Amino acid sequence: MATTAGVYRNGNHSRNSQSTSNNKVEKPLSFNPNPKKSLKSKSLPGSGLRKSAPPSLGTAKDDTGVPGRVRVAVRLRPRNEEEMVADADFADCVELLPEAKRLKLRKNNWDSDTYEFDEVLTEFASQKRVYEVVAKPVVESVMDGYNGTVMAYGQTGTGKTYTLGRLGEEDTSARGIMVRAMEDILADVSQETDSVSVSYLQLYMETIQDLLDPTNGNISIVEDPKSGDVSLPGASVVEIRNQKSFVELLRLGEAHRFAANTKLNTESSRSHAILMVHVKRSVKGRDSILSSETGNNPHMAKSLKPPIIRKGKLVVVDLAGSERIDKSGSGGHTLEEAKSINLSLSALGKCINALAENSSHVPIRDSKLTRLLRDSFGGSARTSLVITIGPSPRHRGETASTIMFGQRAMKVENMLKLKEEFDYKSLSRRLDIQLEKLIAEHEKQQKAFENEIERVTTNAKLQISESERTYAVELEKERLNYQKEYMESIKKLEEKWRMNQQKHAGGENIAGLKDESSNWISNGEDSRVANMEELSEMKTKLQKETLLRKAAEEEVNKLKSQLAELKKSEASAKSDISKLQKKLEDEACQKEKLEGEIAILQSQLLQISFEADETARRIDKGSYEKVPGSLDSLMLQVRQPQNNDSGNGEKASIAKLFEQVGLQRILSLLEAEDVDVRIHAVKVVANLAAEGFFLVLYQHFASASFYGQHQLIQNCASSDLLSKTNQEKIVEAGGLTSLLMLLRSSKDETIHRVAAGAIANLAMSETNQELIMAQGGIRLLSMTAGSAEDPQTLRMVAGAIANLCGNDKLQVKLRGEGGIKALLGMVRCGHPDVLAQVARGIANFAKCESRASTQGTKNGRSLLIEDGVLPWIVQNANNEASPIRRHIELALCHLAQHEVNAKDMISGGALWELVRISRDCSREDIRTLAHRTLTCSPTFQAGMSRLGIDY
Ligand code: ADP
Ligand code: MG
Repeated sequence: MATTAGVYRNGNHSRNSQSTSNNKVEKPLSFNPNPKKSLKSKSLPGSGLRKSAPPSLGTAKDDTGVPGRVRVAVRLRPRNEEEMVADADFADCVELLPEAKRLKLRKNNWDSDTYEFDEVLTEFASQKRVYEVVAKPVVESVMDGYNGTVMAYGQTGTGKTYTLGRLGEEDTSARGIMVRAMEDILADVSQETDSVSVSYLQLYMETIQDLLDPTNGNISIVEDPKSGDVSLPGASVVEIRNQKSFVELLRLGEAHRFAANTKLNTESSRSHAILMVHVKRSVKGRDSILSSETGNNPHMAKSLKPPIIRKGKLVVVDLAGSERIDKSGSGGHTLEEAKSINLSLSALGKCINALAENSSHVPIRDSKLTRLLRDSFGGSARTSLVITIGPSPRHRGETASTIMFGQRAMKVENMLKLKEEFDYKSLSRRLDIQLEKLIAEHEKQQKAFENEIERVTTNAKLQISESERTYAVELEKERLNYQKEYMESIKKLEEKWRMNQQKHAGGENIAGLKDESSNWISNGEDSRVANMEELSEMKTKLQKETLLRKAAEEEVNKLKSQLAELKKSEASAKSDISKLQKKLEDEACQKEKLEGEIAILQSQLLQISFEADETARRIDKGSYEKVPGSLDSLMLQVRQPQNNDSGNGEKASIAKLFEQVGLQRILSLLEAEDVDVRIHAVKVVANLAAEGFFLVLYQHFASASFYGQHQLIQNCASSDLLSKTNQEKIVEAGGLTSLLMLLRSSKDETIHRVAAGAIANLAMSETNQELIMAQGGIRLLSMTAGSAEDPQTLRMVAGAIANLCGNDKLQVKLRGEGGIKALLGMVRCGHPDVLAQVARGIANFAKCESRASTQGTKNGRSLLIEDGVLPWIVQNANNEASPIRRHIELALCHLAQHEVNAKDMISGGALWELVRISRDCSREDIRTLAHRTLTCSPTFQAGMSRLGIDY
């Protein structure tokens, strides 16, 4: 490669030292220690270097990426002992000007060439500083979801491994880039939501070996043709939890590393060492590109947004020595071997040249190394290169070629690409957890309400009976007092009466008291006075008594009002209770609504992931040139909606298309000869069928009394959703028949998948279910289930059959035509989405059977058991995927409802599962159902005592 002066835009290659001040010297990119800031600011630093105006982050689209340049730093190793002696009389071959970021390469005593780099690190630069300028910005990019690469290039013995791989266990200040990078990564990830894993590899003679598992000898490189991502599926991947385990791993890798001893440095290697660090971070609260795109769905409340996962990959490459192989004296190698040893490194040089010169052909595929680094150089990564040089004038030639390599690399531009995606799995997990939490919270509240009601009621009752008792006691006491006093006064009066009688022997009646007094007067003043006194005494007594009576009456009144008060408080307690009950009902309502929304969300999820798959497939498929001319304009319209990424936009344009093209035309295309045309027509029909999806979903929930809420049905009825849906139109126009025909006639898996998806959507309504069955749909779906391999196809087929399983009227026919066997057959694929649909189908079927048995329209063993479903459901009853587990738990409970099934269930091992469900299932309703079943069934009771289950 010719390296003439002035070729390099970034580093100036000048004739003498004077020209360092030459204003032809273009200022290189300054090394940016904080890429986070620069990534978020409008443009990347140093962009002025490029020929054309650089696109700024603000204008760059996420799929076009953000251009960035490979940053190059040069590091000079201090003289070693040997050089101190051997070169004692000579100056270093280079002179560094770190402030100016320049390096002078001496040609002779009076002449030197000057080069500029992004950073110039002298022999005194600390490992910390080297990390901070070379690797830290890359690590920060990786944490933000980009790919990042750090490479060291240079002659053997110049400090590549020192710079990258030092473990620094004895002296922490000596820690190299790998260790420091991991420290920064671990400090910034959350143990709960994020993950960090590494692979450590060696590339030698075009063979990739696993440094973490030496038996793993020939690992192949896999490139994703779509994204250009490079991966090594065969390599060991070890999850890193702490710094210590990482250092252990590096040490283990080092121990395995093939070290070819060379004349120059017995420690250095002819192989490339490659460390790959995968960082997966969840960015819930942070800004992200995707998070702003979820706004088109009103159901996706903020908390239900799927978390966004950012995946970053950090690749650290300790390249083999750059010296020519003959000089390194790798004795014992044949020429072929020598070529092979150098192949990757020279291919890297060629690629860098091609990229630096904007050449149309970059020979990426020429070597393993360049294939591995495909997404590092000129790819979607942020890349830093550190070139290491030694000071010895004896190696001037090698040093010069290293510098040239670095200069060329400075011109390579990368496209940064943020890699983030929705984490649907974790959304579904989160929804599950949320649902579970809601249920638990609801149960707790209900318990608390009930306890409160009980407490208030007993309190009120206690108070009432207490005051009733005191009232009665007081009353009785008063009454006795009165009686006593009354009797005493009577007695006294009688006595007086008698005394008076005696005094006036046979005297007048009591009305003659006056006469009596006059007699007394006549009998003497004394007795009159005495009588008067007695009279007044009696008067006071009478007054006292009146007062006492009044007080007693007041007391009674008080008690009465107390009683009334208590009665009032009892009434208010009662109204409180009824209020609480009302609240409880509202809560239950709310919960059901939430469950409904979650169910809808889950189906939206299904729909979204289906659409996402479709989009991915469309992108894969790429061009449409093959379409015959006559159909061009129509197919253009048929396809247009599918190219639209936004769901709403797609729906809108499908509706428009629907009007413009007419359903009949679209349906007629289902039978077109051109496979491509057929596929697109099926997709349009599938999209149309999905449009009525939510209404049908609501109806389905309501009719299957998933949460038989009148409110919901009313909501549906009041909205204009009940106007004729696309589904009805499709069915009326014979679309369902055409879709079923396609399952029979087409051999194309894409057609099968999309058609099955459309049928699954249509199969949500009862009328359609009957139509599908009447047209032999089960046979066709079973056939597809038997031949399909793509999990997405199987998921759609299983989904369709599962819907049919929920129809009470179709049970026998469905089974007779092999529906259950087909469902069961699909578990071979093992994909959790497919298994969940199979489980749903079985649960639906078991529920209908159980209903029929209760109504007396079915007797005898379950058809599911007859068809051999038991072993699979027993095996998967505790599946870790909750949709699978939940459906199977329900299915088991339904089967267990009927004694005829009990014996088979016990011998099939289902009893253990039922016991487990009754104890551990997180849903109380299922738990209770299992418990009730176990305690009511004599067969299960006997089975449990035989098996020694203590229940
Ligand atoms: P390479 O990996 O490029 O072959 P090494 O990293 O093995 O080179 O370094 C060769 C020798 O030089 C080692 O003994 C290392 O400790 C020493 N060395 C390299 N760079 C430095 C430096 N910056 N400061 C001190 N010693 C260094
Ligand atoms: Mg080395």
